[in-house]
Amino acid sequence: MNSSTQFDAVIVGAGFGGMGAAIALNRLGFDNLLILEREDDLGGTWHVNRYPGLAVDIASVTYSYSFEPNPYWSRLFAPGTELKRYAEHVADKYDLRRHMRFGSAVTGAQWDDDAHVWTVSIDGADPVTARYLLTATGFLSQPKMPDIDGIDTFAGQVLHTTAWDDTIDLRGTRAAIIGTGATAVQLIPEVAREAAALTVYQRTPIWVVPKLDAPIPNIVQRLFARKPATQRFARAVSDGLLEGIMVSAVLHYRQAKLLNKGAAAASRLFLRTQVRDRSLRRKLTPDYDFGCKRPTFSNSYYRTFTRDNVDLETTSIVRVEADGIVTADGRKTEVDTLILATGFSLWDANFPAIEIIGREGRNLGKWWRDNRFQAYEGVAVPQFPNFLTLASPYSYSGLSYFTTIESQMAHMSRLFGAMHSRGADVFEVTEDANTRFLDRMTDNLDDSVFYRGSCSTSRSYYFNQHGEAALLRPTSTANAFKEAAAFPLTDYRITSAEATERVSS
Ligand code: NAP
Repeated sequence: MNSSTQFDAVIVGAGFGGMGAAIALNRLGFDNLLILEREDDLGGTWHVNRYPGLAVDIASVTYSYSFEPNPYWSRLFAPGTELKRYAEHVADKYDLRRHMRFGSAVTGAQWDDDAHVWTVSIDGADPVTARYLLTATGFLSQPKMPDIDGIDTFAGQVLHTTAWDDTIDLRGTRAAIIGTGATAVQLIPEVAREAAALTVYQRTPIWVVPKLDAPIPNIVQRLFARKPATQRFARAVSDGLLEGIMVSAVLHYRQAKLLNKGAAAASRLFLRTQVRDRSLRRKLTPDYDFGCKRPTFSNSYYRTFTRDNVDLETTSIVRVEADGIVTADGRKTEVDTLILATGFSLWDANFPAIEIIGREGRNLGKWWRDNRFQAYEGVAVPQFPNFLTLASPYSYSGLSYFTTIESQMAHMSRLFGAMHSRGADVFEVTEDANTRFLDRMTDNLDDSVFYRGSCSTSRSYYFNQHGEAALLRPTSTANAFKEAAAFPLTDYRITSAEATERVSS
């Protein structure tokens, strides 16, 4: 490494993705790491989101690192606070805090092809240099504010779910929630219990299936702690169910259409058991196929709409006024608190979350938009040497983020292991390997509900501005792990910076 380069690697983001990358790099012998985090603490999503009802909706035995099982989850689907504590535990156990710098918003990064280093710019601080750059900025990290007329004139409190005000007291107030995504599904039952009146503004209904949740008794927690194989077994069952039902029904729609239709039928049947009113049921029933948009799990969501103090509004909003919300039919609903469960901007603001300039001035965001969103194995991009983008097109594997993280850790291990054995320190994926991967993902998507099913009315963030479903990796998770551990090393150009510098001088 050039003696003036400050760090072996800079990792952007101290959530589970960034911490996984740091653990992988530590295992590979890199200790001079800097993890930059714009928030004031670690945990990513689980630090930022604190809204009432926050919980995982993938079973906790699956939604955690396989190499760091937590035997003490209190429920099958742990509440958000436990995820935040788990993140802290991982940071402590793997001694990661020493690498972290909080309140450090990265504004951009540029590759210097002569010095073979990345220069990373930080808001309000001096830039830093590193041999390797890894962005672990998450998928759902740039909140989306709805572009609704007059929203700035609203006199009461406006809250996005990612900026929850812990001091807010909704008791006796008139609340409105805009949005019916997975966040709203968790939040709506909680707000309905507190507020005097709640109006939920739904633009697109969501598929909801029952959440098979329950407390995990102490005796089982102790069993998991004493005999880890029992928890590994529980994880295998949970992974298998997720893969078999969800991933197959969505990604292998062509082959598993019946499974997909069965999941939709189960959701419809569930709705029937929860809501008697036909017209309410009709409003809550999606008109697109199961899986076009991320389905969600809740035992209380549907039933909440049968409460006297809750209204489901499906007429579109035309404007917000100081004291309420006006819909297209001219009706105004008076509101004290406006809650925005309007989700995240992925394709405009998040890919990439910061400006990244590679070789020959290639701007990653511009290149993705002018060409197609793409990343070899969901981690690498041609003309971006020594850069791994961990929140990328085609990187999200399975429905648990931990599958994605761990397959990326395996990829890093193979790649850096090969460099180490060759005495090399510069890598760049080849154009050819990248194109082959993109072509294969595009072909595979042809089997998915996204292209085979009926998704046009789903308004799903799985689709980008070009109409491509370029977020999920359309393969089995087993395939993602297999390729991460065995991709052809010839897919990368692996060189030594020192040798290159000697040749060119
Ligand atoms: P989301 O799924 O993108 O939902 C946003 C909602 O806001 C949608 O119903 C959307 O309607 C609505 N909306 C946005 N702009 C609007 C506008 N201008 N007017 C009216 N409605 C508008 O976001 P999310 O609910 O925050 O969930 C995002 C993802 O986070 C989930 O899919 C899931 O992956 C993850 N999540 C996970 C958990 C967990 O437990 N693990 C919990 C919560 C969230 P349209 O659909 O019509 O656009």
